[in-house]
Amino acid sequence: MIAEQLKAVKAELKEGTRLVAVSKYHPVEALREAYDAGQRIFGESHVQELSAKVQQLPDDVEWHFIGHLQTNKVKYIAPFVSLIHAVDSDRLLREINKQAEKCGRTIDVLLQLHIAQEETKFGFTPDELRAFLAQGEWRQLPNVRIRGLMTMASNTDDMVQVENEFARTQMLFNELRAEYFSSGTFDELSMGMSGDYLLAQRHGATLVRVGSKIFGERIY
Ligand SMILES: *Cc1c(COP(=O)(O)O)cnc(C)c1O
Repeated sequence: MIAEQLKAVKAELKEGTRLVAVSKYHPVEALREAYDAGQRIFGESHVQELSAKVQQLPDDVEWHFIGHLQTNKVKYIAPFVSLIHAVDSDRLLREINKQAEKCGRTIDVLLQLHIAQEETKFGFTPDELRAFLAQGEWRQLPNVRIRGLMTMASNTDDMVQVENEFARTQMLFNELRAEYFSSGTFDELSMGMSGDYLLAQRHGATLVRVGSKIFGERIY
């Protein structure tokens, strides 16, 4: 079942768009089934759950942390995490740098853009992102590498609005890349979930985060 869903989703992705299989709240057996079907990138959003799963899957899994990350929990995932998707403050970025240094690593991160209409979503507004990058202190953090942007579209059935948000994200991504990352490491755009990943792909997503379409509904 999981293998088939995974295959169906992958078949729709173009070269250049990678699948993050969002496995939060699903048991290790489900991840193993996806792993056996060839999936290597898994996305989790709770530190404790992720830490437990890491020990039960092979070492060649790439673990992406996709949720809101509290500063005091960075240390638990710093030794192994491949990409932190939702960096939403200067403070969090500094803490990741500090913990990465302790592990002798450089950790790849994405800055979270708040583009949705909901009040509850985390992230920088477009102007906050511009100001943050212009200010330049992030350049003094040698153990983090800002690889791109992550965003969540509004939770709505209005696909015109969702597409509009992805299009605006893509424009901002291109603007920031040209302005601040001419050397070329700003190359990842994480957007799109089960309901909208094809739209996201059309607007330049390099990482889509798909959970329920692969693993079924989550039981909380
Ligand atoms: C849970 C989650 C997803 C996956 O959502 P689905 O609708 O199940 O595909 C994607 N991104 C983030 C940040 C999530 O927390």
